[in-house]
Amino acid sequence: MQKQSAEQTFQDISRRRPALSGLLTAFSPILQKQEELCERYAGEFASCTLTTDTGRMQQGVPILTDNDIPDCSSLFANCAKVLVKPLSGIPLLQDKAENLAALFANLSHEDIKHIVEAVSSNNPTLIDYFAKEKNADPLETTLYGTFVVQVILRSLVQKCFGGQSEMPWDTNNIWQQGYCPVCGSYPTIAWFDRAKVDERNTYLLPGGSRKHLHCGVCGADWRFLRLSCPLCGISQSKQIEILAEEDNKFGEALDWCTQCHSYCPTIDIRDRIAMPNLEAQAIGMLHLELVASEKKLHPLRNSFWNTFIWETAWPIVFTSFC
Ligand SMILES: [Zn+2]
Ligand SMILES: [Zn+2]
Repeated sequence: MQKQSAEQTFQDISRRRPALSGLLTAFSPILQKQEELCERYAGEFASCTLTTDTGRMQQGVPILTDNDIPDCSSLFANCAKVLVKPLSGIPLLQDKAENLAALFANLSHEDIKHIVEAVSSNNPTLIDYFAKEKNADPLETTLYGTFVVQVILRSLVQKCFGGQSEMPWDTNNIWQQGYCPVCGSYPTIAWFDRAKVDERNTYLLPGGSRKHLHCGVCGADWRFLRLSCPLCGISQSKQIEILAEEDNKFGEALDWCTQCHSYCPTIDIRDRIAMPNLEAQAIGMLHLELVASEKKLHPLRNSFWNTFIWETAWPIVFTSFC
């Protein structure tokens, strides 16, 4: 299936939902630059491999737990610098992007590992020590660092696993977890495609769709049980509810768990000609996330567009661009 770029996905969503177009226009330069850098950096990781161990995957151990990430301090610094311009479009970072980029220059390998772990585990306190040492604000450092880590890990995953017809973690449904088999992060979006005829198992919905989860940090996708909650693991019938617009003609919805109140945006691509860019697609479903937030539900993983919805930074972004 043909793949859409972030910009093409944003254009599609803007046509369907003009009310979101201002917001999407604001985020478009960031995603476009990340995409461009990923392609360029994947070549930089040409000699890198990540080993996969079936037994460890069966135990639920993400691949990066057992693999040291390659030494990439110069890429880290370069990425942080190139992102200054697009990230200056976020009001919270506007006047600070240059200084924040400077924090990520000349990092030690240990520092990079801590920052990657903080972002993957969604535990910003792991960055606190680093931010304090550099006399920087932990929230801003985490936000900036997240964009950089996304590019680095997506490039690495693209180089090591891109182009494979079946990912090692999907073979025989080895990976059973709701978190990412590569970096351990919880997904930002799920998607349904058309299943092959011979795949008659619990990963399928009646009607033949197959569910995948997508990691917004490293870009990995993995198959997951349709009626299970990625966070609490509950898999009894009627525990997962669906929140969608009445006609739902674009196949966009949120799955939410009645047990732990987490939610995940979902997109059905069975009738689409092209695969949307999933990062862009997730942002384009903010209207559903706002409804979820009103229902006191929480995302499986906080992302830059929903983390600050009711906190300090988001209202500034929202009112500036909508
Ligand atoms: Zn991941
Ligand atoms: Zn749950």
